[in-house]
Amino acid sequence: MPELPEVETVCRGMAAALEGHRLTRVEVRRPDLRFPLPPDLGERMGGRQVVRVWRRAKYFQIGLDDNQVMLGHLGMSGRIVISPAAPNDLGPHDHILFHVDTGAVLRFTDPRRFGMVDITDQTHLASHKWLAGLGPEPLEAGFGPDTLLAAAAGRRTSLKALLLDQQVVAGLGNIYVCEALYHARLDPRREAGSLTPAEAKRLAKAIRSVLTRAIAAGGSSLRDHVQTNGELGYFQHEWAVYGKEGEACPACTCGQGISRIVQSNRSTFYCAHRQR
Ligand SMILES: [Zn+2]
Repeated sequence: MPELPEVETVCRGMAAALEGHRLTRVEVRRPDLRFPLPPDLGERMGGRQVVRVWRRAKYFQIGLDDNQVMLGHLGMSGRIVISPAAPNDLGPHDHILFHVDTGAVLRFTDPRRFGMVDITDQTHLASHKWLAGLGPEPLEAGFGPDTLLAAAAGRRTSLKALLLDQQVVAGLGNIYVCEALYHARLDPRREAGSLTPAEAKRLAKAIRSVLTRAIAAGGSSLRDHVQTNGELGYFQHEWAVYGKEGEACPACTCGQGISRIVQSNRSTFYCAHRQR
């Protein structure tokens, strides 16, 4: 599932193709993805100029010149690919086409249809049900060690679960939580409430660092993620622990290798020697 760096990568590609340009037509080719699509989506977006494309947590947002904002989520398998001209190879999973006045076409492709799209306006964006409960953006000034300490205080849940909680910090998923905990040298099983100020500092720094590096690499292509030009992201080559059960730990000579455990039905990868 795409996490913050993959969505950020897609947003940057979309911004380059859309900002300042008019959507000549928005073609909605089926009534629903995970949820019903707004029936008037094409009508509301067609002819409007795109002012801004940006990300909140794992959502991408397209701001239009009449203050409407389309927000979307790539779900499990969604991708957005931009072609310089109208594609002649449309498939059954190309669900929404955004025709741009430059001739370019963005297509939202989603074989498994867990993607989500809605449209609202700027005034109601922050209170939209998909966004209302989200915690701070980890790469923005509102996030730091104090955010983590406050969220962790008194919590009996694991550090892994704490970081996956979108109300604590927005945009992290399984991959980047595993990687951040590794770089912060923290055991994913540790009770969140036991986090010390020094550890919170390490953790906030590790989260920012891993996300920044992943964005620079175009995200991680595990199964479905591609950049909007169709190229794969390549941060999966920089993963230290994710998916690496039994492999050597990149930072220590413990000889133990990377372990995998299951927490809340999801795999956690970590080095039991380095992460305490
Ligand atoms: Zn190790």
